[in-house]
Amino acid sequence: MDQGKNPFQIAQRQLDEAAKVLKLDPAVHELLRWPMREFHVRIPVRMDDGSVKVFEGFRVQYNDARGPTKGGIRFHPEETFDTVRALAAWMAWKTAVVDLPLGGGKGGVVCNPKEMSAGELERLSRGYIRALGHYIGPDIDVPAPDVYTNPQIMAWMMDEYEKIVGHSAPGVITGKPLPLGGSAGRGDATARGGIHTVREAAKVLGLDLQGAPAAIQGYGNAGQFAHKLATEILGMKVVAVSDSKGGIYNPAGLLFEDVLTHKQRLGSVVGFPGAQEISNADLLELDVMVLFPAALENVITEENAHRIKAKIVAELANGPTTPEADVILHEQGVYVIPDFLCNAGGVTVSYFEQVQNAYNFYWSEEEVHRLLDKKMTTAFQAVHEAAQRHRVHPRLGAYVVAVSRVAEAMRLRGWV
Ligand code: NAD
Repeated sequence: MDQGKNPFQIAQRQLDEAAKVLKLDPAVHELLRWPMREFHVRIPVRMDDGSVKVFEGFRVQYNDARGPTKGGIRFHPEETFDTVRALAAWMAWKTAVVDLPLGGGKGGVVCNPKEMSAGELERLSRGYIRALGHYIGPDIDVPAPDVYTNPQIMAWMMDEYEKIVGHSAPGVITGKPLPLGGSAGRGDATARGGIHTVREAAKVLGLDLQGAPAAIQGYGNAGQFAHKLATEILGMKVVAVSDSKGGIYNPAGLLFEDVLTHKQRLGSVVGFPGAQEISNADLLELDVMVLFPAALENVITEENAHRIKAKIVAELANGPTTPEADVILHEQGVYVIPDFLCNAGGVTVSYFEQVQNAYNFYWSEEEVHRLLDKKMTTAFQAVHEAAQRHRVHPRLGAYVVAVSRVAEAMRLRGWV
């Protein structure tokens, strides 16, 4: 891996910056630079052809000073320990920035789910829990879906965990199907939370979003709902969207239902009638009010940052902007809503799911939406205020808020 783009090294560099601003105690800083606990497991799985394949799995419990660690499980052929470590660190900052009583964790399995049958995936999912079941739990570490894992996989994992412990324990995992204790409002929570932060950013910047143009890179869970909700909640005009095959652009605006139907029918947004084709790189540089990177990491770099024209970059994806690009965007007056704030709506509703599981009483979608809005708005305001006070860019402001909360919890526990 290109060490400049090693996600864990980026996560550590971002923390180092925050440590400087906060004049963090060296022992606190050292403890926060590394995961507190890591698991590296081998999972034997009987494949459909009768052979046994051994998969490599990871679970990182980055920091649990504020509560049980929380974070998704990724099934990906190029999974690495350092990616999981970085994502676990970002989860620790994310749960702290939205002030959830949780720590940060992440897991992964090196596998290609697109080449596996449903039976093989089920056996792998159950195998992952058999390998790690004694080290997770509603009060220890709570997984969730992430890249290439879904509610069905969560259901198998919960079932396997309950077999191990011998009782019902739906709070062991979130992102479950609704009939098994999932929460209303989880589907669009990431995009919805991001939309709330955009609304708040526009307020502090004095921008009118009504009818203003937006562009979205990535058209999966985060990107699709960003299209729907930017229109519905903010009244914006989404002029460009893209996926891995390319992008489409229409300055008059793209209708959500029509683009979604096209994507569902043909597997890509490309070829949408009445729109021009646009590359993923050019989409980022469009003259829009809000740009939503909602696909991959490292897409805004020192190479293209000075050509970004958006007033607000709302990072629904994890890690779309490199540290060098952050500085350039800030100097240009682009307001970046950092990933672990912008996309925290998902984990916030996951936390609501755990609360409902513990209660064994379930809320309406309206109630989930109301509480999510409140959490995201409060978090945005705390980050904006910290960035102003320390005269730093919003990502560093978010780190300052999150790191000081985790550090305070460690101090109160007497760890440092
Ligand atoms: P997804 O798999 O549903 O969708 C990803 C989208 O990105 C797809 O449309 C895919 O075509 C597109 N894509 C892939 N390669 C691309 C490329 N080279 N150029 C442009 N588009 C490309 O994933 P998602 O759940 O929407 O997640 C997207 C991002 O948001 C990720 O960074 C993820 O970590 C982050 N995120 C998601 C959630 C969530 O709840 N879904 C929560 C937090 C963060």
